[in-house]
Amino acid sequence: MKIIRTVEEMKEFSKKIKESGKPIGFVPTMGYLHEGHLSLVRKAKEENNTVVTSIFVNPTQFAPTEDLDQYPRDEKGDSAKLKKEGVAAIFIPTINEIYPVDYQTYVEVTELTKNLCGRSRPTHFRGVTTIVLKLFKIVNPDRAYFGKKDYQQFRVIEKMCRDLNFDVKIVPCPIVREKDGVAMSSRNKHLTEKERRDTIILHQSLEKGKEIILNGERNSSKIIQTMKNMIGSKKTLKKIDYVSIVDLYTLKDLHYVDRNILIAVAVYFGKVRLIDNIEVIIDAKNNA
Ligand code: AMP
Repeated sequence: MKIIRTVEEMKEFSKKIKESGKPIGFVPTMGYLHEGHLSLVRKAKEENNTVVTSIFVNPTQFAPTEDLDQYPRDEKGDSAKLKKEGVAAIFIPTINEIYPVDYQTYVEVTELTKNLCGRSRPTHFRGVTTIVLKLFKIVNPDRAYFGKKDYQQFRVIEKMCRDLNFDVKIVPCPIVREKDGVAMSSRNKHLTEKERRDTIILHQSLEKGKEIILNGERNSSKIIQTMKNMIGSKKTLKKIDYVSIVDLYTLKDLHYVDRNILIAVAVYFGKVRLIDNIEVIIDAKNNA
């Protein structure tokens, strides 16, 4: 397994693979890898001869007040895990390699980024789309793998590729959870024991929301209120950023559940902001 740190070397590596006519599967990450990340790597390995993973804690997707400096890192541990999965190369560039001092170009998906996390993190998705577009240009993959844990991110990247006529196939992958249902996240490491125990309520409330809908409730505010009451019962909860019921594709709020939807939550436990979601399919025919 190669560890590549420069754009030039990464492009050269990909060029050689492409010349051999074999597909490249790409898994972009910010590192501190867990089973969620590795599930994407395994899916990529199933579908592509060569898998490239990137590890880059992208500063442009963090606001100045956010946890860029505290973001956990473990290059050695990550490399060992990826080697075991049969990854061909890890791209680990420095910040300066990606954003030289005179850097000034950004790409933005305008509508899909307005709701959910875009409300409280208005510059976040601009950073995400910019880095993903740059990584796609550098790595030149045939397929790229994204977790539905970051559902809005997956939809935004899918849209960017469609709008900009990129040929990369975006492959969404299911959320990987701990035994108790908590979605795996690098940020879980920052939770105290008590906070970690309380976070179980996120998945439980999402399952409850889904259950209520499948039992016939269609009024979004009633469903959201039930979920907020559940989450609000936890002592270590600091703040609910949002509990939203949105169209699965446009991610716009829905007052009534009259189609396939996503229930999405963002919540602070202590200083840690966690997100989670669940798809609710009421119309299987329209589940494209
Ligand atoms: P990150 O390192 O947090 O930027 O995540 C890199 C990729 O892994 C993104 O596509 C995430 O959606 C995905 N991912 C993170 N956590 C999970 C999880 N628990 N299950 C599935 N995918 C995940």
